[in-house]
Amino acid sequence: MATLEGGVNVDPIRDFTPAYGVAERLATGVRRLTARNGGPLTFRGTNCYLLGDRDITVIDPGPDDDTHLADLVAVAGAPIRRIVVTHDHADHAGAARRLSEVTGAEIVGSAPDPCRPLYRPDRLLADGETVATEAGDLRTVATPGHAAGHLSYDLAGSGLLFSGDHVMAWSTSVVVPPDGRMADYMASLDRLAVLGARSYLPGHGGPVIDGLARVDELKRHRQAREAAILRALDNGERTIEEIVSAVYIGLDPALAGAAALSVTAHTDWLEERGLVRKVGERLSRW
Ligand SMILES: [Zn+2]
Repeated sequence: MATLEGGVNVDPIRDFTPAYGVAERLATGVRRLTARNGGPLTFRGTNCYLLGDRDITVIDPGPDDDTHLADLVAVAGAPIRRIVVTHDHADHAGAARRLSEVTGAEIVGSAPDPCRPLYRPDRLLADGETVATEAGDLRTVATPGHAAGHLSYDLAGSGLLFSGDHVMAWSTSVVVPPDGRMADYMASLDRLAVLGARSYLPGHGGPVIDGLARVDELKRHRQAREAAILRALDNGERTIEEIVSAVYIGLDPALAGAAALSVTAHTDWLEERGLVRKVGERLSRW
């Protein structure tokens, strides 16, 4: 985990050891199966949530992988009726199409990118719509930022919110332009703050027990990063790579690409607000 120069450390919670191939019960009517696609950006793998015990709703079916699909169908223990998608990244939604073919489940949720559609939703969900499930009504909360169409899902009466890749305990979110926008991401953090106290069940890693505290921590983290980027530009022009070297200390080389995307998302937002300008590859303060 990189330490932010002059900023706030966002303490990751990494003590998460999923039992692959097993659905772990987290609450009444809520189980979690973690896919076997662990890596630098996916941590221990993508979390797929199963709602209900007789009429199953899957939130994020996970990657398009034979072993994972077999795991998912085996642990469900009952017919999978609907597939709910938070966003169209392949590690979350890659299995949607094949799982639907195998089970006949309908696909609902976030719109896929028309340039590289991973699946064809039977129903697109807008902000505030509900999906009835055996475990209770799921209400969508539009949370763009990590991805333009990102949706979180609030499970009525449970105090649980499925936060996808918007808020996680193990890491901050990668905001990848142009689909991801920092301005949207920050507004989406405010959205969750307004929603009130919840525990979050994220797309990777263990639960976020105190959602409001995590949202506040993530906001302060981004504000500190922005301040560090502006300081890196105080002495003149910089490229994105030069800003990454100045702002991240002890960065794992495997995460350099993600760090560059994150800095680009920040500088895009600074440009939008007229605080930074870009000429060719070089950025400077106005
Ligand atoms: Zn994602």
